[in-house]
Amino acid sequence: MSLAEAIPEIPRIVVPRTAGVIALDPPLTGPARDQAMARIKHLLRERDAVLVAHYYVDEALQRIAEETGGTVSDSLDMARFGHEHPASTIVVAGVRFMGETAKILNPEKRVLIPSLEAECSLDLECPADDFIPFCDAHPERTVVVYSNTSAAVKARADYVVTSSIAVKLVAHLHRQGKKIIWAPDKHLGAYVQAQTGADMLMWNGSCVVHDEFRAQALEQLKARHPEAAVLVHPESPASVIALADAVGSTTQLIDAARTLPNPAFIVATDNRIFHKMRQAAPGKTLIEAPTGGHGATCRSCAHCPWMAMNSLRALLKTLETGEGEIHVEEKTRVKAQQATQRMLDFAAELRREVMGLGDA
Ligand code: SF4
Repeated sequence: MSLAEAIPEIPRIVVPRTAGVIALDPPLTGPARDQAMARIKHLLRERDAVLVAHYYVDEALQRIAEETGGTVSDSLDMARFGHEHPASTIVVAGVRFMGETAKILNPEKRVLIPSLEAECSLDLECPADDFIPFCDAHPERTVVVYSNTSAAVKARADYVVTSSIAVKLVAHLHRQGKKIIWAPDKHLGAYVQAQTGADMLMWNGSCVVHDEFRAQALEQLKARHPEAAVLVHPESPASVIALADAVGSTTQLIDAARTLPNPAFIVATDNRIFHKMRQAAPGKTLIEAPTGGHGATCRSCAHCPWMAMNSLRALLKTLETGEGEIHVEEKTRVKAQQATQRMLDFAAELRREVMGLGDA
């Protein structure tokens, strides 16, 4: 009997979401948790696998990635790390599009994720069957899609971007006189447009977590904590971004917590980022930004329901059984790789520029 099977079944918590109903495993605690973590570490070694975890997954999974030579990072660095790491299997603790990105870049490697049901509202709200005809109707525009999309949508794009690089890449295209189709996140798109002045035709998607942050409640919280800086992810509404002291990707927000002098931070992004923020800014106070009011889908949780499917149990089962393997049809993969590789090449060029090694 495997350890995953040996851990007693506990009644599942059912969380209603906009995209249906998601059943979450209650977290393991005490000796069962320690035992599962030790077994996962063993299996990672035995299976020649590396764990690549997003900042939004459970702290226990982040710790395993840190302690076994994997990484905890944003989606851009997850893609880069998995691509450069020599392990034959990449285990992506995140959501499905992150697993697909790993497979797109590493066709020769096995890519596993703890739950193939771990979706993303942005991905779900931008189906390829609708998006492709939309792009075809605007052939004069350059198609830029956020990484939170399916492989089929990436395959129709000219560029893939993550939030850490979106402003710079769109500004670069704008300087070349390009008009843009942007998908799927309307808030991030509006932020990029405001920063760059680019001509952008927007898709109307949003993130179920960030869309719930509310400006009025945030103003009230700021008034109670005047010493706190407000850190906001640009998937949040413009009214929330307007109150921010720092706006950026998850990695950029962690850097802001490290470098800003404030003793406290109000943080408008998934609260599982607090694990890395505490490491980056020890001793500082971290406060969750307030989420939606009456009738909201994610009130007071500030945690992605799909990221929450990355439980220790699910990760252990994936490693023991090989379930949760990501497959991407080859023709789609090749096209999606071109758009994703352009992002990685652009990011590399930017790094060279910052280091004074390039001329772009
Ligand atoms: S936090 Fe939002 S953008 Fe990130 S995976 Fe969850 S639904 Fe998607």
